[in-house]
Amino acid sequence: MAKLTFYGATEGVTGSSYILETGSKTILLDCGLFQGSREEEKSNKEAFQFEVKKIDAVVLSHAHLDHSGRLPKLVAEGYNGALYMTNPTAELLEVMLKDAASLQQRDAEWENKRRRRAGKAEIEPMYTIEDVEQALSLCDGSAYGQRREIVDGVEVCFRDAGHILGSSIVEVFITEQGVEKKLVFSGDLGNSCAALLRDPEVVEEADVLLLESTYGDRNHRPMDETLKEFESIIAEASENGGNILIPSFAVGRTQEIIFRLGELYQKSMLRHQAVYLDSPMAIAVTEIYHRYQNVYNTEDAAAMSQGKVGSLHTFLPVLRYSTSTEESMALNKVEAGAIIIAGSGMCTGGRIRHHFKHNLWRRNAHVIIVGYQAIGTPGRALVDGAKVFKLGGDKIAVNASIHTLGGFSAHASQSQLLDWLKHFNKPQPRLFLIHGEAEAKSAFQAYLAKQGWSADIPHNAESISF
Ligand SMILES: [Zn+2]
Ligand SMILES: [Zn+2]
Repeated sequence: MAKLTFYGATEGVTGSSYILETGSKTILLDCGLFQGSREEEKSNKEAFQFEVKKIDAVVLSHAHLDHSGRLPKLVAEGYNGALYMTNPTAELLEVMLKDAASLQQRDAEWENKRRRRAGKAEIEPMYTIEDVEQALSLCDGSAYGQRREIVDGVEVCFRDAGHILGSSIVEVFITEQGVEKKLVFSGDLGNSCAALLRDPEVVEEADVLLLESTYGDRNHRPMDETLKEFESIIAEASENGGNILIPSFAVGRTQEIIFRLGELYQKSMLRHQAVYLDSPMAIAVTEIYHRYQNVYNTEDAAAMSQGKVGSLHTFLPVLRYSTSTEESMALNKVEAGAIIIAGSGMCTGGRIRHHFKHNLWRRNAHVIIVGYQAIGTPGRALVDGAKVFKLGGDKIAVNASIHTLGGFSAHASQSQLLDWLKHFNKPQPRLFLIHGEAEAKSAFQAYLAKQGWSADIPHNAESISF
């Protein structure tokens, strides 16, 4: 019998990690960071719930930190085997983990300044850039659809999940005493209405299925409505001339927005002189997206190429990268006619805050919110109608128009999840709902029951045998 234990993304959507044991081998699926409240983030520093020494192989579904962010800690604690993932995931992982390490280093330095003044012992960051380098040296990339053995009796195959570049649904084939069983881990499933990437690949067979349920309780607003609204905001902003600021996450959403702006440019509906991508991390990620155009969906790839060799750059020729601090600061002098995309996605840090300082008080400026804003973040305050934006010691009046576009999502909706699930052959796999808030999972469980599917909701550290 194989045994699977759930160690993360059971009580919420972060900290994805699962241990699979078969024969004498132990495999870790994902090694994610807990993100969100202070309490959740504290648990990242605690010991792993499983024995690091026992792990023979690690398989990663995609590069998002809630799936990958504790890998350097695993390596720092002695894991020295291979990390299996898709090729683009390995490239994105370098950008993501290096950024995570430098943020942790900065937070630890800030905390230690306080501690020294209070006469308290200093703390260490969870991991260092050296740990990240070590983890990156263990990455072993595969193409989609390439079935390969990772340890004796266990093979994996990555299928396109269409969620971010390189994201995968992981098929795990386990052979015990000549009998093969199959575990399918959905990873994060993409939204089939999102730009650039393909729909999640269909999988038809599994004995056990772990299914994400982030949007298990709701459907997205239709994409054409969202795009119409996006178009009208851009048109309105063009008319009154001001800059448009778009806070955005570096991976996925930024590239999608660049593509959508490219569509407007091609229809001669973009009158702004330049679109500045003002984030070294988002630039690095966009270049990786650029190298893997072979995984784009055919419709968007065709729109971009129009008979020639196309790319986000040729599709949106007014796209400019601002890499250095000087280039970023030069944008402060631009009073009108620019679209600036910058991080961080929830406005908690990064260059977007400087652009807020120079633009929020202007009546002709516009801010377009294209991503989720957690409660308590500055981005959420803007969405909720804050009149003043606090920036260090400064208070900036919010005179700009703030637009919230809720329709972009990188996750499958309730109906898309069901559509994907319906492709599984009978007998139905044993189904476990993971990666969702408690309400989303129980609503999805009830919805599935009406469709003839019975699903379990596992708890932390719960094990199943199959
Ligand atoms: Zn993800
Ligand atoms: Zn996730």
